[in-house]
Amino acid sequence: MIKTISYLGLGNMGGGMASNLLKGGYKLTVWNRSVEKCEPFARKGARVAGTPADAVRNAELVMYSLSNDKAVEEVVFGAKGILSGINEGQIAIDMSTVLPATSLREQEAYTKHGVDFLDAPVFGSKKESADAKLWIIAAGNKAIFEKVKPLLEQLGQTVHYFGKNGNAAVMKLVGNLIVALEMEALAEGLVLAQKAGLDLNTVMEVLKVADFRSPLIASNGQNILRRDFSTSFALKLMLKDAGLIEKFAKSLESPIPALHVVEKNLESATALGFGKENASAVIKALEKEAGVEVKVR
Ligand code: NAP
Repeated sequence: MIKTISYLGLGNMGGGMASNLLKGGYKLTVWNRSVEKCEPFARKGARVAGTPADAVRNAELVMYSLSNDKAVEEVVFGAKGILSGINEGQIAIDMSTVLPATSLREQEAYTKHGVDFLDAPVFGSKKESADAKLWIIAAGNKAIFEKVKPLLEQLGQTVHYFGKNGNAAVMKLVGNLIVALEMEALAEGLVLAQKAGLDLNTVMEVLKVADFRSPLIASNGQNILRRDFSTSFALKLMLKDAGLIEKFAKSLESPIPALHVVEKNLESATALGFGKENASAVIKALEKEAGVEVKVR
């Protein structure tokens, strides 16, 4: 049974997962680029490492959740990166949302070190991560998946296996294509409802119960009405994901016409300065165009 774990990247997602590993009684080492995010973990007994290479030494399992492909490039492949500290027999799991090609590149590099690798991105956001209610998808060697599955089940409410490495990264892009379109649909719908003078509380009541309801629409809709754009999933990360989906879909000549529109709106909202706010702030680009603000009076 796995007892020692290193977690790298203590952002909105990684922070929640690392906390739950500590609660689960694992011996935890943490590393984060901005060291102050390690402090709450140190207070709870985690070892704080100075570099990724130092972080992974002696851990049976290495997990990380980083912003994007560039961050994975630096933390895994860079000087003092994970690959310069990891050893044969260890297991590595990348929980970030990255291109499937990046997952395959990681797998190839880890294999050369005798390390088993799973791509295991997640659905759910900051709250689901903190509450150990994520929806986890994983791909790679089946026996390794089975070995870490009980641990993943301590972080999420479901764990699905997707076969060979890279497939979970693909599934994550499929899911986020739908997330991006849902968020855009919510934003366009609320702006239209506001312009038409509907009572927005009643609009939300219907959105929460109708046959097209979703937890994403319910929680983000309610927060938009309160003008609460505090970050669970940053708009700039959704824009990053739109870029990944575009690149990947193009490689397979799979059409994504609606995503192109969403990407343009995400770019507009970013240009207006809302990149660090929650992805639901995509509505602000539409509001500017419409000359309204969606708000309960
Ligand atoms: P976040 O809160 O912005 O945290 C990002 C983490 O990556 C931080 O630890 C950050 O370090 C680190 N990082 C960024 N660039 C780096 C670099 N060049 N070198 C080293 N570390 C770097 O993001 P998050 O929301 O936790 O997302 C993490 C991953 O999960 C992303 O791939 C995201 O797409 C995915 N995801 C997010 C959600 C969500 O709802 N938030 C849901 C599913 C999947 P610093 O603290 O130093 O900045």
